[in-house]
Amino acid sequence: MTISRRRLMGWMGVTGGAALGAPWLGAAQVAAGGPLSEDNVAPAANGAAGLTRWARSAQKKREQTKGVVWTTHEPIDFLLRRGEHEADIEEHYVTMLSPANIQRMADAGVKWGRLFFYKGFGLEYERPAMEQGKKVADQMHKLGMKVSLYMGGTMFTETLYRELPEAKDWEQRDQWNRPVPYGAQTYRHYACPNEPKYRAYLKRAIKIGVEEFHVDEFAFDNIMLQAEPKSCHCPRCVTAFHAMVKRMYPTKEAALRRFGLPDTDWLSLHEWGTEAEPESVTSLSDPVLQEWVRFRCESLAGYANDLYDAVKALDPKVAVLFNIKGVYSFNRYWTNAVYQPLYAGKIDLMAFDTGGYDEHIDAQTGALVSQIRSYKMARRLETGCEDAFANDVRAAVHMAFGYQKPVAGLAPAPLGSGAFNTFTPMMEFFREYNDRYYTGVDNVADVAVLRTWASMAYSVSAAYVPTTLMEQVLIQYKVPWDLLFEEQIDRIGKYSAVIVAGQECLSNSQITALLAYARAGGTLIVVGNSGTFNEWRETRSKPALGTARSEGKGRVVVIPEVLRGDKLAKVAGANEDPEPGATTTRDVHMNPPQWVLPKNAEEIYKTVVSATPAGLSLTAEAPLTTVMELQKRAGSQEVIAHFINFETKKRVGAFAVSVRKQFPAPVKSVTCFSPEGDEPVKLEFAEAGGVVKFSVPEMGVYSMVVVG
Ligand SMILES: [Zn+2]
Repeated sequence: MTISRRRLMGWMGVTGGAALGAPWLGAAQVAAGGPLSEDNVAPAANGAAGLTRWARSAQKKREQTKGVVWTTHEPIDFLLRRGEHEADIEEHYVTMLSPANIQRMADAGVKWGRLFFYKGFGLEYERPAMEQGKKVADQMHKLGMKVSLYMGGTMFTETLYRELPEAKDWEQRDQWNRPVPYGAQTYRHYACPNEPKYRAYLKRAIKIGVEEFHVDEFAFDNIMLQAEPKSCHCPRCVTAFHAMVKRMYPTKEAALRRFGLPDTDWLSLHEWGTEAEPESVTSLSDPVLQEWVRFRCESLAGYANDLYDAVKALDPKVAVLFNIKGVYSFNRYWTNAVYQPLYAGKIDLMAFDTGGYDEHIDAQTGALVSQIRSYKMARRLETGCEDAFANDVRAAVHMAFGYQKPVAGLAPAPLGSGAFNTFTPMMEFFREYNDRYYTGVDNVADVAVLRTWASMAYSVSAAYVPTTLMEQVLIQYKVPWDLLFEEQIDRIGKYSAVIVAGQECLSNSQITALLAYARAGGTLIVVGNSGTFNEWRETRSKPALGTARSEGKGRVVVIPEVLRGDKLAKVAGANEDPEPGATTTRDVHMNPPQWVLPKNAEEIYKTVVSATPAGLSLTAEAPLTTVMELQKRAGSQEVIAHFINFETKKRVGAFAVSVRKQFPAPVKSVTCFSPEGDEPVKLEFAEAGGVVKFSVPEMGVYSMVVVG
């Protein structure tokens, strides 16, 4: 049996010996009640002057909440059924749900809590627990707290099928017509994303949440399909698949060109020889498999989009979270049917509930591991992100890169999910300045990295290597950049340079758009084998984007190869666990310890710099283990640079920074904010030729510089 991801992450709360009711993510364990771990949190001392005001405030809140049992998303029946809980679990729940406990949370300034609501046992079965939860929700609302309700995504066969025998018909079926269980919890089965009756049933729960609980945020879990051959192959899905390809290739000519058959109705799904066979797939050239990946992603997104619309139809103020996770270095469209652009406009918050991708430097390889790609993706899709905050580097990355979507039901980031009970100096600093400097901002980006569907969907790992490593160079060399999907290709005109790295599959229209961008004055940076194939992964007679040259007012620059810097030997990622039970062996994919800067990183960086004729919007002489995000805040006409040092054991010495002005008025001040000091520090600066130069003082984990 594999260890479940959530045990590793501490989602369940009762494992690991911390508070019972951990939040969805594992933030509480360090932060709640107990002393701070020095491994995770920067020193609180403020020289000889004693503790900073952030440290004093954090200490006070920890004392105030000592012994609080944090609310949990899990109903007690689930923990009892699953096992792995403590013997005094019933007393814990009594304490957790008691008015005195909730009052203590409010007294310490806690503004948010997640409650169990619908786990999947059945609406009738869960009603008594819901009634208990409703009393807590009412009290939380009276105390000015926001209420997040948990919505599970599996069906508990032992109870739901008793209550509602027809629910058995809603199950997913694998290739061999077996139900698809939730990993080792075989009493939980996944429902088919294409079954309207299952959705209708969940909408009954949604209605209860909105009308009876006055919910502020719904958190939908288990938004994923299992990897092949355990993805749903039920008759509903097969029919819907045929309908999709018929829509796409309606004529005989279209079907013949795509599949070599005159009618898409003739197509049969791929049949795997063994359960393990899909693990050995490295690329998808079979056109039916290619369309099947798309179909799986669209089915899952269609299901989630429908639930989103159902919530908003009842109350548009309610925020909606889907646990779809971020952007990693392997093909999650293929493994888990999650393609984030299909959620654009239909999601308010996404959760990065993964193991091994949290912010750190890998002890074995030195790779800088982060969720920065995920944050970049989320910002361009205008979605907030749920992550844990107990680790200062992780918190700082969220502060610098996170987008806070203006939805009434969402708690501000430092008060909401993952943060609500994290009392560290860093988080007290975030709470103080959130409204002033972390909202109403957009990032400044000189460079876009483009990811096309076909490149990333039809390669299981190979295309991810140059893409991931190019992004790694941009991250560590502090280049202001954006991550764009092909759905966003019409935005490339605003960037000085566009990078296509590992984009093996480009359509003719994408090539036209990229070359038009260059002709209009942009620099197109083509890396590796980009453009080798068309959008069906058919080999082109010659690489589509050609060689290095001037192109109209702009140019095409070629980087022949991204030279891997790691030893290529498979390295075990610490606790790496991107999905529960989704991929049992992961031999073919690149993992975070392999995100070592490429051997030609310096050369790549210089190429990117020379591709932006006006220079980068920011350059900083900080080490490669310090990352940066550059933002502008139109409301206050300020430019804000965030610096995060991943080498937590070492301080970063003072370093020089040049920032391009983003607003016309003369610069009046440059101010450095840090959780290491009570008050911001005014910096000396010089302004010339539209560029502001200053020096950032020696720093620990995080500094924010505001150019006003
Ligand atoms: Zn199905």
